[in-house]
Amino acid sequence: MGLRKILTDKDPALHKVCRPVDSFDWRLHKLLDDMRETLIDANGVGLAAPQVGILRRVVLVDNGQEILELVNPELVETDGEQVGAEGCLSVPGRYGLVKRPNHARVRAQDRDGNWFEAEGEGLTARCFCHELDHLDGILYTQVMDRFLTDEELEADD
Ligand code: ZN
Repeated sequence: MGLRKILTDKDPALHKVCRPVDSFDWRLHKLLDDMRETLIDANGVGLAAPQVGILRRVVLVDNGQEILELVNPELVETDGEQVGAEGCLSVPGRYGLVKRPNHARVRAQDRDGNWFEAEGEGLTARCFCHELDHLDGILYTQVMDRFLTDEELEADD
């Protein structure tokens, strides 16, 4: 078992720029395996390495079909616009209204260092942008319009 502790927004690790991954070794594989367990355990759709205290450019995104492992990811294309509720495992219990592209394409390396591209619409595009922001020390609370009120959250249920 490799559940890792998810840091919350007061933690300085969440506000730093992460370094690229340069060795695709067992340490990276262990990190990815642990992050996957942690993401599933927390019922999230995405998780970035700094959220578990590792300042490396690694994120996981659940696109509804599989959990993508993105190492050294970059946004290569975005399209359209969506405004909607967004949450973060590091900001428990709160949701904000955030504008994001409606479609996003990323380029990343897999756990063995091979480059590939992945794309997503809607929630997946939102998640790509949210997780990649984490790697630059940016939380959604810094780019949102405002927090959603309790009334708005209840209306969503
Ligand atoms: Zn987050």
